[in-house]
Amino acid sequence: MLARATACSVHGLTGVPVMVEADVANGLPNFTIVGLTDRAIQEARERVRASIRNAGFEFPQRRLTVNLAPAEVPKEGTGFDLPIAMAVLCLQNSSLRLTGHGFIGELALDGSVRPVTGVLPMARCLRAAGVRRLAVAEENASEAALVEGLEVVGVSSLQSCVGHLDGSAPLARARPGAPPAPVVTLDLCEVRGQEQAKRALEIAAAGGHNLLMLGPPGSGKTMLARAFCSLLPELENEESLEVAAIYSLRGALRERPPTATGPPFRSPHHSISRAGLIGGGSGLARPGEISLAHRGVLFLDEVCELPRGHLEALRQPLEEREVSVARTRGAVQFPADFMLVAAANPCPCGHLGDEAGCTCTMRALTEYSARLSGPIRDRIDLVIDVPRQRFHDLFDGAVAERSAAVRGRVEAARALQGERNGATARGRTRNAALDGVALQQVAGSTAAATRLLAIAGERMRLSARGFFRVLRVARTIADLRGSSVVDESDVAEALRFRGESVGS
Ligand SMILES: [Zn+2]
Repeated sequence: MLARATACSVHGLTGVPVMVEADVANGLPNFTIVGLTDRAIQEARERVRASIRNAGFEFPQRRLTVNLAPAEVPKEGTGFDLPIAMAVLCLQNSSLRLTGHGFIGELALDGSVRPVTGVLPMARCLRAAGVRRLAVAEENASEAALVEGLEVVGVSSLQSCVGHLDGSAPLARARPGAPPAPVVTLDLCEVRGQEQAKRALEIAAAGGHNLLMLGPPGSGKTMLARAFCSLLPELENEESLEVAAIYSLRGALRERPPTATGPPFRSPHHSISRAGLIGGGSGLARPGEISLAHRGVLFLDEVCELPRGHLEALRQPLEEREVSVARTRGAVQFPADFMLVAAANPCPCGHLGDEAGCTCTMRALTEYSARLSGPIRDRIDLVIDVPRQRFHDLFDGAVAERSAAVRGRVEAARALQGERNGATARGRTRNAALDGVALQQVAGSTAAATRLLAIAGERMRLSARGFFRVLRVARTIADLRGSSVVDESDVAEALRFRGESVGS
């Protein structure tokens, strides 16, 4: 006798449907699970047996074999308990209809169903594979219900799951979580002064450029970074589901509701572990902060305090916009298309160029600037100084521009890039993603702009990389003007965001 239930395995953000087959035959009582290797699923055997008994059902006193197919798909985690138990119960209860039905959940020994991480990407996978109904733990129900065309019920226990399926106690269909109250982000107008820095934020937002802010403690770098998010366009529906799937895998949907549409903002402390930042960890691979910042902003304050190995590890994701996390059985990929906003003090003591006076040794200064020009410098297009504001700048009474107005210009500039860069940048439409060749194709520089670039290159001894950084930023500045050509003034402005002190 054979019974089947549908489950799901997740690898990175990619789900694979798994068929749970239970077979009972005459012989000495025995319970074997095959088709999996992960220790967590061997433990599932004990949980399934205990929870079936404690929920008041009978556990077959015969030779019971459960197979999870396909065998070659790695299966990790505890979400297989519920589908295994349902297949076993189906062997003895012919009124249970499991066809077209998926199950995800961990069982407690008393028969209650516990939530697991990654339910959203699994639910999306099962729907795409043709599954129409899904039972998950109550705590996971509103997240799974976000998937269109999937009828989700939240079950608190094995009994309630059986009652729903045999029709004796049907459960109401779960609704997707209510749209969250709009997240209060800082508006740009709340940051006083700092006009140069605000202009740099606008350019960075428009072209997708990474940004480094240099300034003493208390100059407002953190406020500027927080306000940066408010300049970025809202996520589209598919994008916000993708972001929510990452938070689901990390078990972090409390920090960001799955229906949130603002770009995510993450600001991990520099003491964070490498796995916490990049992804990984023991057991089920978890996405790191760089993936939680996917389609949003990763703010690294005091970036020089980060271990050098962490900065090295940021190189690949900054380049490829996804991260590959090594596992014992192959690597797992997570998306990591974030904008980097880094901030640092101008020197270790923080007072370089300040009235208070810098107390750093020459050697400390050299080492510090070497750290800033280290592994991720290539991927940062804009460098700005954020000086401490003088008293009269803070209270000059001028009306500062609101984020919404700036965001309007950012969206217009991005639309221009989308039309122009689409074909040249392998689907990557933002200027920041353009390499040298693609950039020269789209720059459309005037003769005067080219001349200024050449002169600047000579005088400032720009490297090839430094040259392209200036041109990339100038391209975005021209886009903000709505111009198809880069002219002299665009190049002149771009040259101001070069950050001479930290290597060009
Ligand atoms: Zn100093």
